[in-house]
Amino acid sequence: MEQYCCNHCGKLHDITPTIWRCACGGVLDLVKEVPKLDITAWNNYPNSIWRYFETMAFAKDSTTWEKVTMGEGQTPLVLLDEQEPNTYVKVDYMMPTLSFKDRGAAVLMTKAKELAVSKVIADSSGNAGTAIAAYAARCNISCDIYLSNETSPKKIAQIAAHGATIKKIHGTREDIAAEAQKAVDNEKVFYASHVYNPYFYEGTKTYAYEIYEQLQDVPDTLIIPVGNGTLLLGTYYGFKELLENELIKKMPKIVAIQAANCAPLVKAYQQGNESAQPVTNKGTLAEGIAIAAPPRSKQILEAVRKTNGEFIDIEEDEILSARAQLSEKGFYVEVTSAANYAGYIKYNKAPEERIIIPLCGAGIKSK
Ligand SMILES: *Cc1c(COP(=O)(O)O)cnc(C)c1O
Ligand SMILES: [Zn+2]
Repeated sequence: MEQYCCNHCGKLHDITPTIWRCACGGVLDLVKEVPKLDITAWNNYPNSIWRYFETMAFAKDSTTWEKVTMGEGQTPLVLLDEQEPNTYVKVDYMMPTLSFKDRGAAVLMTKAKELAVSKVIADSSGNAGTAIAAYAARCNISCDIYLSNETSPKKIAQIAAHGATIKKIHGTREDIAAEAQKAVDNEKVFYASHVYNPYFYEGTKTYAYEIYEQLQDVPDTLIIPVGNGTLLLGTYYGFKELLENELIKKMPKIVAIQAANCAPLVKAYQQGNESAQPVTNKGTLAEGIAIAAPPRSKQILEAVRKTNGEFIDIEEDEILSARAQLSEKGFYVEVTSAANYAGYIKYNKAPEERIIIPLCGAGIKSK
């Protein structure tokens, strides 16, 4: 049986429908042995994130995922353009709800269904809420999504379409999370949090497995946007498992991107701190990465440092210009996602360095 372990005090916890953090306040991780990767077995599964089912923390004979999946994953990895033969984009907006969050939400809601929960609560800047709402609908589980009254109207419409109850909160992203957490504890329901629930990362780690199979190798560098770090940590865990199984010989370098107007991790990285201090969000167009106090900051900083990676912060005008440039190449991404390309432009790359940029969210999601 899987268990959780507190990242702060080390206490072990059984996985129940209502646990979401340790009594000490620490975030939880799955207690896992390094999975023995049996690549040939991957062909026994459909061509989706579920190809890597056997690497995830589920009982081998569990088939719950078959009722939950909407075919998410195996997104295209394509060259950015012919002038840059070593730069690829991974088109993660080609997902059921048009963002990479489906990787995590499909796995997290599969776990919720296994735990037989009847209601979930989540808070989000938009895309995670959309993904949780969609998969909750698919699982016939009732769902409340807490979000800011300033969230992109198109994301709110998407969430509402899936039948979730929308709780609009006036306040910071942290205020919204606090409201959701209060409701979770009062109502004693499952907190379908992409930030706190370790199963979300079992889903986002498939980003690494897919790249490994598509490239038949490990890239040199991954550009990754970071707010709460769900793509960053998942990708790190995935490549780490590949390395531990000796399927790759090195870890790719992680270049993490934040908006300069809300960059607690950049600051902590520059000051050499182990974890991030909360900052004040000065306002950024990149709503999807505007996280002033990321709960997993210590793990994110550690992951970037361990890969000899770095942080880059992006100004507002650079975001808009990057979005326009990507559109001219044929890729229409939401505003937040343009920060990734802006980071790539700013990054001081070596000749022939093989780099992957994720296109995380579809253009029609934002204005
Ligand atoms: C969620 C999201 C991000 C940031 O992911 P984190 O897990 O918060 O680091 C980046 N881009 C898009 C489009 C997103 O939806
Ligand atoms: Zn603890």
